[in-house]
Amino acid sequence: MLTSIKGKSVLVTGGSRGIGRGIARVFARQGARITIAARDSAAIDEVLAEMRALGAEARGAACDVTDYDSVRGLIDDTAAAQGGLDILCANAGIFPQVKIVDMDPADWDRVIDTNLRSTFFCVKAAIPHFERAGKGRVIVTSSITGPVTGYPGWAHYGASKAGQLGFIRTAAMELARYNTTINAVMPGNIYTEGLQGLGEGYLQTMANSIPLKRLGDVEDIGNAALFFASDEAAYVTGQQIIVDGGQILPE
Ligand code: NDP
Repeated sequence: MLTSIKGKSVLVTGGSRGIGRGIARVFARQGARITIAARDSAAIDEVLAEMRALGAEARGAACDVTDYDSVRGLIDDTAAAQGGLDILCANAGIFPQVKIVDMDPADWDRVIDTNLRSTFFCVKAAIPHFERAGKGRVIVTSSITGPVTGYPGWAHYGASKAGQLGFIRTAAMELARYNTTINAVMPGNIYTEGLQGLGEGYLQTMANSIPLKRLGDVEDIGNAALFFASDEAAYVTGQQIIVDGGQILPE
């Protein structure tokens, strides 16, 4: 049993659905105080109702992670409302599929900005709060696509997700002086609204190719994030954990 994170101040970007909602749900069950951030306020409201039903203190915040001022405002407001920031989950991301031959520079920039640049924005904006508190945790949602595997249509996505791992290695060294750790969860194929767009037939084929014979659940990722947030992970930083049902294991 991990030490409880009850009462801890948590921010989940991209918490309005999918993996972010799963992370928030796992943390809410632990009694954390949670801010859910995304662009669409109506989707946030639905998640807040779920968090409160689980007994958690929860608030929503509209934010565009591609905009530094928006991220800085989000983090400062979260810390003000929740008495500091203990755990930052930099999770928001997009994964539009487009092959390199058809990819415009704007397609590339949008994915890199949303997935990678935003990770830098979140960490940079959170540093003053970690410094003030003398502690902090950052959990980044990366992927196996990019750092470990490739997939046609996801060159920009893979670059952004591999880039996140490059970022956290140096960030871990720089954040250590604030007694703050940063680690990444690398999901395999997790069943989310975002993935549903790929079609049921495709998803079934995908599930059959995974040793554990199922797509991941969003809470599988939440549980890994919870470990990185726990006291038990205090000496783990600059690392990543693959949560993929064995998908990347060789035959
Ligand atoms: P979803 O599409 O289900 O959710 C994405 C979340 O990010 C939403 O809350 C969305 O809200 C938010 N978001 C997107 N763009 C922005 C933005 N510019 N500013 C603020 N929030 C934004 O995706 P998943 O849950 O599947 O993915 C979450 C993370 O997990 C991503 O980083 C993704 O790369 C990673 N991942 C997912 C896998 C999977 O199988 N699903 C596998 C590996 C990694 P809104 O649109 O309202 O802003």
